[in-house]
Amino acid sequence: MKFIEEYRDAELGKKLIARIHQRSTKPARLMEFCGGHTVSIAKHGIRQLLPPTVTMLSGPGCPVCVTASADLDKAIALARLPGVIITTFGDMIKVPASRSSLQQVKAEGGDIRIVYSTLDALKIAQENPSKSVVFIGIGFETTAPTVAASILQAQQQKIDNYYVLSLHKICPPVVKALLDSGEVKLDGIVCPGHVSAIIGSHPYEFIPRDYGIACVISGFEPLDILQCVDMLVAQIESGQPTVEIAYKRGVKPEGNKIALELMDRVFEVCDGNWRGIGTVPGSGLRLRKKYQRYDAERNFEFYPGEPVEPKGCICGDILRAVKTPPDCKLFRKVCNPEHPVGPCMVSSEGSCAAYYQYGEGYGR
Ligand code: SF4
Repeated sequence: MKFIEEYRDAELGKKLIARIHQRSTKPARLMEFCGGHTVSIAKHGIRQLLPPTVTMLSGPGCPVCVTASADLDKAIALARLPGVIITTFGDMIKVPASRSSLQQVKAEGGDIRIVYSTLDALKIAQENPSKSVVFIGIGFETTAPTVAASILQAQQQKIDNYYVLSLHKICPPVVKALLDSGEVKLDGIVCPGHVSAIIGSHPYEFIPRDYGIACVISGFEPLDILQCVDMLVAQIESGQPTVEIAYKRGVKPEGNKIALELMDRVFEVCDGNWRGIGTVPGSGLRLRKKYQRYDAERNFEFYPGEPVEPKGCICGDILRAVKTPPDCKLFRKVCNPEHPVGPCMVSSEGSCAAYYQYGEGYGR
């Protein structure tokens, strides 16, 4: 199975679905952590193919969605400073913060540029030596190593006008926080594929050990996800939860040592602020003291003001898997991809956007 088509083979899919139906006798409440999985599950109609014993919930794995309003407000306050160029990934620009959005600040004359990598941001810094270029660093363990590399590159090439606003988050602590809250009862977790390519499978071992919950790391194609669900159901039926890797072509148990070392060299763990969840100890990344000259929070004076959540938006509840998009009174009526009220409708990995695009049946 080397090619994408093979991971979309209908006959193999039917066999996996039949096996899941045959195996599953006990209730299996599964949460996919990752927004990429949320979209793939919705796009391929996987929920509708599963037996009634299996329920799939969406978790907080969309990096744009989990960025708290308070942190977005920091990006907006930075964007309003004279002589600052903000560089960011595309989805971020449209997310409504407490009083504005980066898109609005851009319309008012702010210099905000969408980039596709940190290399683009470094290039902008090199081309604009009289300006300060701030990269808005969002995302999980997947993106943090590339941001770390950009800081090392800035240091090596003496690019002194490059800064990072680090809003990075790390995943296992927020899974623990969700489980400790007791708000949502789970039997299994579809663990993220890209994050696990960096961190490996070991950081999830506390989940079956301490909470008795099955864990399988999944890829993103429909057969990947069906295989993962099949393995989760097998663990649940046997009553022997453990951590398994269904995405062996992308994930090794030990992860990617080079990326982990890079991340550890530049960042240290701090508390992270998650939309709808709040402060989670040990779930954020900030620049180590040695690299503080690249830290936007430490090098600029700015006043983000008090955070305010979008009125009527229940993104926080959706990110904690206690509600689904149709539970929101604004869904489709007021909030849609053209006029998003909250980040779960803005982001291409957001649950509300996935439900909007792929329709009914998703929320089962
Ligand atoms: Fe927020 Fe819109 Fe989703 Fe409602 S539909 S939770 S307003 S993003």
